[in-house]
Parts: sequence; structure tokens; C-alpha cells
Amino acid sequence: MARVHECAAVVSVGDELVLGQTLDTNGRWMADRLLAAGVVVREHVTVGDDAARQAETMRRLASRVDVIVCSGGLGPTADDLTRLSLASAMGDELIADDVSMAQINAWYQARGRSVPPNAAVQALRPSRASALTNIHGSAPGLYAVLAEGCEVFCLPGPPREMKPMFEQHVMARLRPSPDRTVLTRVLHCFGIGESDLAARLGALMHRERNPKVGTTASEGVVSCRIRYEGPLRGEDAAEEIDKTEALVRRAAAPYVFGAEGQTLPGVVIEMLRDKGLTVGVVESCTGGMLGALLTEVPGSSAAFLGGLLTYSNEQKVSLAGVPRELLAEGGPGAVSAETAMAMARGGLARLGCDECLAITGIAGPGGGSEAKPVGTVWIALAGKGGREDCRRFLMGGDRGAIRDWSAKAALGMLRLHLAGAGDAPMLRQVSARP
Ligand code: ATP
Repeated sequence: MARVHECAAVVSVGDELVLGQTLDTNGRWMADRLLAAGVVVREHVTVGDDAARQAETMRRLASRVDVIVCSGGLGPTADDLTRLSLASAMGDELIADDVSMAQINAWYQARGRSVPPNAAVQALRPSRASALTNIHGSAPGLYAVLAEGCEVFCLPGPPREMKPMFEQHVMARLRPSPDRTVLTRVLHCFGIGESDLAARLGALMHRERNPKVGTTASEGVVSCRIRYEGPLRGEDAAEEIDKTEALVRRAAAPYVFGAEGQTLPGVVIEMLRDKGLTVGVVESCTGGMLGALLTEVPGSSAAFLGGLLTYSNEQKVSLAGVPRELLAEGGPGAVSAETAMAMARGGLARLGCDECLAITGIAGPGGGSEAKPVGTVWIALAGKGGREDCRRFLMGGDRGAIRDWSAKAALGMLRLHLAGAGDAPMLRQVSARP
């Protein structure tokens, strides 16, 4: 009986990937698809255009995993060496595949192009390998079984060719273990740091626990990845994930805002829509980034009315109605709780929204002082129902990071209020003014 595929390795081939000139999106995509099919990826390897290294990589992985999926290096040029390295890893020789050659000829003819002289290279395959049809490009893929019984798929590098070939050839041949289920779920948090979250999760993050819980932070969002790997099937496995999800949600409350593909702006728009509320924004240092985040969400017009871009003091006064004395010499100044709150109240009245967010801060690199260092940002929220909140944050990083964090923090603040947790402190918050 053919061996089951419990674990896999993903190999991305190309100097441009190793040198960091091209981002390896294939590896990530393939690992995700393999996991969804119940095959866990144990290793990712990126290897340059070097046949000896590629062959050595395949041989090493063959003794560790059941399936290897490679992408790249199947073109017709001298730096496309995957065919050669597969033959070398198999201890085999390259032969011409007539069916592949006919398909390559047909591919060029269908596009009214003459067949380039080096195209015949793409019809070569190790004698004990088989060719995999590629209907989106000229390079066929390859499939072979290495000495250890490990199966290897070699697919072209361009994602628009690799993805359909993966679905057609790899998915059809995968044999995930019938006795083992792999299920994953991802929850997203905002407003809490990764180490704080890890401390709250405590024993839930023990490596020997099943389902496993891990955290990753990216662009302000901390995600909790839950993965079950074991003998339970269908609903029983899902129940294990559900139980762990409930524990994670409880530990991370009130910072969990969504799951899987949900985004912070998407969730905020959805919550506003569900409650029949609208939002407006008044922005200074973020210069429209908060409005841009909200309008990235399809259908945001149902809840987002618009905003005021009040970068200068004059615009804060004339557009948002901030009292001039707040900005005058001796007053609290443009970056202050008073001004932020006045911006939010002014926006609430002038935009006719139910909730209004305002941001004013010092994004740097200049303009900071001892009392108000670069990264000082006040975010205010005013609501028709009398809701008012104003918080001071100290954002880290450069100008871009400070502005990005500020826009997201404003969304995070509104979300906490909509979730009934308006009192919860947020990451990077240094003080709050009722
Ligand atoms: P071709 O027939 O187009 O030459 P190939 O199999 O030789 O196909 P490569 O030459 O290795 O593929 O890569 C072609 C292009 O595909 C790269 O320039 C890059 O844009 C894209 N590509 C290759 N590998 C990856 C990867 N791992 N992630 C994302 N894109 C990739």
C-alpha cells in the first residue's frame, strides 16, 4: 500500500529568492494549502540556482518528510537547473519526453510564436520521473519518487502557473493520513502586546499541548494560531479547536477582534453597521490614513461618512471648530487632550455622524520636546450618546510607523467601545482622560 503523507517540505528555488530580491510567496501559499489538506509542513528551504545544492537539499529532505514540493527553476535558461538536480538526487539520467515536447510546440503555436531553440530543454525529464502538464505556461512540472519513498513535485516558479498545477497535480496525489487530522484556526487581537498576551495565555502555550497555541505579531495585530494534530476526526477535532478557542478568547479578552481573514477596519465597519451607527474622522498627523483604512473595506459607505483633514492649526479652528485659545501661546497646544477632544466633538457636530474619532500627534522626526516627545499622539472619541474618551499614546518607530499605529489605535479604541470594553487600556497608551 502506498505510504501516507504525514509531513512535507517546501523548497523554493532561485538566486533572486535567496538574495532577497523576490519575496517567496509560493512557499507560504503551498504550506497553507498542504496544511489545509492535512499534511504538515516541517521545513521550508530556499536554495539558489546551484544544481549540486538543490540535489543535496532534495536528498536530505527525502529522509525526513513524505512529500517535497519545489517551485522554480524549470525554465529553458542556463540558470534553470531543477530538472538536472532532480535527476541527480534520483541517480537518474535526463531523457526527452515526446509528449511534453509536443505540448510545448502546441503552446507556442497557439500564441503564434515560433518555438525558441532552447525550448527542447523543458521537455527533458529524469527517465524514472513523469511530466506534469502546465496549461498556463511552457514549462511542464515533474513528479518522481526518491529512493526513500519520498515523493517530489517540481512546479514552475510563476505563481499563476504554480497554483493551478498545485491544485491539479499535487492535491490529486496527496494521501493525508486517514488516522490523523490537522485543523487550524487563527484569532486576531489588537491593543495588547505579544508578550502580555503570552503571559495571559500561560499554560495554553505549552509546546506539548494539543491543540497547540502560538502567537505572531505583524503590523500591530497579534494573532493566536491554534492547531490540532491528532487522531480525532471531523466534529470531534473541531470541538477540540472550539474548546481551545474559547479559552484563548477568555484569556485575551477584550482584545480579540476577529478570526481568519477578518481585519480590524472590516470588523469596526461591521460592528457599526450591525448597530446602525455611522463614524466620521478628524485627522491631523495621520493625514487621512484613518479614512483610508476605513474605506479599504468594501461596503464601508454604509457606516463611514467622511472626515476632516485638519493638519494646520488654522484648519483645526475653521474646519473642526477647535477653540482658538487652545492653540494660542500658553494654551495646551495642538497635541493635547483638549485639542483632540475638541476635534472629535467638532467633527461629531459638523459631520453629522454618530461616532467621531480624532487624532493629533507628533510623528517626527522633528517637532518633539521633553514634555511631548516624538511619538506622542492623542486620540479622542466623541459619540452622540455622550460617549467620550481621550487617550495619550507614546508610539514607537519612525514617522511611517507612528502614523500607521495611530490610525490603527484609533480603530482599536472605537472597537473596544463598540464591544462594551471602553475602559480597557491599550498597548502604548500612557494615560487616559475621562
Ligand atoms: P519560467 O518558465 O518562467 O522561467 P521557472 O520555473 O524557471 O519558470 P523561475 O525562473 O524560477 O521559474 O521564476 C520565474 C518567476 O516566478 C520569478 O521571476 C518570480 O517572479 C516568480 N517566482 C519564482 N519563484 C517564486 C516564489 N517562490 N515566490 C514568488 N514568486 C516566485
